[in-house]
Amino acid sequence: MSLRKWINFRNSLAFRLTLWYAGVFTISSFVAFLLFYILITSFIQGRTDEELLNQANRFSALFIAEGVEAVKNDAVIEAQAAGIKKVFFRFLSMNGQVFSSSNISYWKDIHINETAIKKLLQGSSHVFETITIPDHKDKVRILYAFLSPRIILQVGQAMESYSRFLDAFKGIFITTMTFLIVIATGVGWFMARRAVSGVEAVTRTARNITGGTLEERVPVKERGDEIDQLAMTFNQMLDRIQTLVIEIKEMSDNIAHDLKGPITRIRGIAELTLTNGKSMNEYENMAASTIEECDRLLDMINTMLLISKTESGAGKLSREQINLAGLLRRACELFEPTAEDKRVTLSCDVPNECHLMGDNRMIQRMLSNLLDNAVKYTPSGGAVKISLSENDEKEVVIIVRDTGVGISPVDLPRVFERFYRCDQSRSEPGIGLGLSLARAIARAHGGDITATSTPNQGSTFTVMLPKSAKK
Ligand code: ADP
Repeated sequence: MSLRKWINFRNSLAFRLTLWYAGVFTISSFVAFLLFYILITSFIQGRTDEELLNQANRFSALFIAEGVEAVKNDAVIEAQAAGIKKVFFRFLSMNGQVFSSSNISYWKDIHINETAIKKLLQGSSHVFETITIPDHKDKVRILYAFLSPRIILQVGQAMESYSRFLDAFKGIFITTMTFLIVIATGVGWFMARRAVSGVEAVTRTARNITGGTLEERVPVKERGDEIDQLAMTFNQMLDRIQTLVIEIKEMSDNIAHDLKGPITRIRGIAELTLTNGKSMNEYENMAASTIEECDRLLDMINTMLLISKTESGAGKLSREQINLAGLLRRACELFEPTAEDKRVTLSCDVPNECHLMGDNRMIQRMLSNLLDNAVKYTPSGGAVKISLSENDEKEVVIIVRDTGVGISPVDLPRVFERFYRCDQSRSEPGIGLGLSLARAIARAHGGDITATSTPNQGSTFTVMLPKSAKK
């Protein structure tokens, strides 16, 4: 493994999770072993202490019954019977001087513990100590106790079973811990790999997308866990990005298309005038046509900028008290002549007054876009009805209903997109920005516009605006 690969591996989540898992597992097992060890050793020590105390009690009873000589003899016999490397006895005077003992050759390194003697003299019934002697395999447990009020007994016993247990324990401990660490690392690695495999799938997909394939999606395993949720959220995000990319592409195609027309016309007129133009009049006509086309272009560019500003909130709306009823009536009056020319009936059902807080100019623009569309897309003999009311949620509701060409179900969800124009309306003048601007204005006021339509029967656009426009 190269250094770089090792660094990547060491920094990986799977590696760290494995380390944590193996670490926690090992520490827990170690603690369990430690508790077991403490329990067993204290049990073994307790048993040794009990044996030593029994021995002391037996000597005391013998001392009372038969005197000190009998005890001394018994101690020698007892030590020999048990084995001189296993047990020893010493009899001490009150100042700690040894006056008799069993065979002590093996135990000569064990001295009299003055602190223990002091403790006995201070009133303790017995004192225990454990000592380790160099070159001796086993530890020694020693008891100091009174044989009589003037004689102290020192009994020592090699802690054989303790050492045996310790040896066995060491072997089992090392084998089991090695086994547990290997198992814990294996299981930890398996679990960590399983957990991060989903994250890796997301990373792989993200990498492929960076390489240019926006269609790719992370496979969802249907386990309903966090990784599945991450994958689903990531896929939803990709869907959204893909839609946006397609929209942006369509929009730039539309912009290019809409710019191409006027620019080609300007160029055509200029070329024609240059080659054929002889009089001042022809040059004046060319200038007039150029201005007209430029105005159209400027209008389109300004509307696009206005939509962007309104959507992003960059162009601050003014907040003023507006009588929406009056505004609607005036808009209807404005479109009355166009409607009459087309023989479309325009009716306006609005109350005397209906106030809300908002930007007068922007709302005027939104209304005129909706009315313009309604009249434009309604053939002669049709009708356009405008109504204004208030609902229970402190919103004003403007409904613009027409009996025009209608919008197909395929087009309906897209009519609010920038530059989107339904096929059947391409013959009418327009650039496909009116509804985008209208929706941007409604949303900037905290409201919205929705549309319903039946092809060849008509459309209904409903605007909802809160009475006190949100900041
Ligand atoms: P346009 O400048 O083309 O009118 P809009 O953004 O105002 O742009 O409208 C987008 C498209 O939605 C229109 O091209 C038209 O196809 C459709 N549309 C809008 N309003 C109506 C309506 N009242 N009746 C039928 N179609 C409509």
